[in-house]
Amino acid sequence: MTHSFGYSISQSRETNWDKLDHRFADKLLDLEPSVRLCVGCGSCTGTCTAAPRSGFDIRKVHTRFRRGEAGAFVAELEKCMFCGKCSMVCPRGVNIRNVMDLMKKLIEA
Ligand code: SF4
Ligand code: SF4
Repeated sequence: MTHSFGYSISQSRETNWDKLDHRFADKLLDLEPSVRLCVGCGSCTGTCTAAPRSGFDIRKVHTRFRRGEAGAFVAELEKCMFCGKCSMVCPRGVNIRNVMDLMKKLIEA
């Protein structure tokens, strides 16, 4: 008998750190050092204005960007409306709105 508990377990996946491109991430950390304080709580995603309409997941995007997977979500960056709510609710004081702006600029440069 199968039970549904209303949640699912994320599939595990391997990340080969040596094969990722860390150039964008290193620049981002230099330009907006506050992003180092992120604890991955998800408050930014939970309050994001764009999330309910587009499924935009800002935590996933900035986490993967810092991991060196910038190219995986270029189209996702267009969903941000730069309202700044994510920066207001972050318990660690990360300026996520600026992180969004910088990620776009670094990729488009
Ligand atoms: S709200 Fe702040 S600490 Fe939490 S995941 Fe977003 S950036 Fe990280
Ligand atoms: S600035 Fe962008 S990522 Fe932050 S809450 Fe607004 S739409 Fe979401």
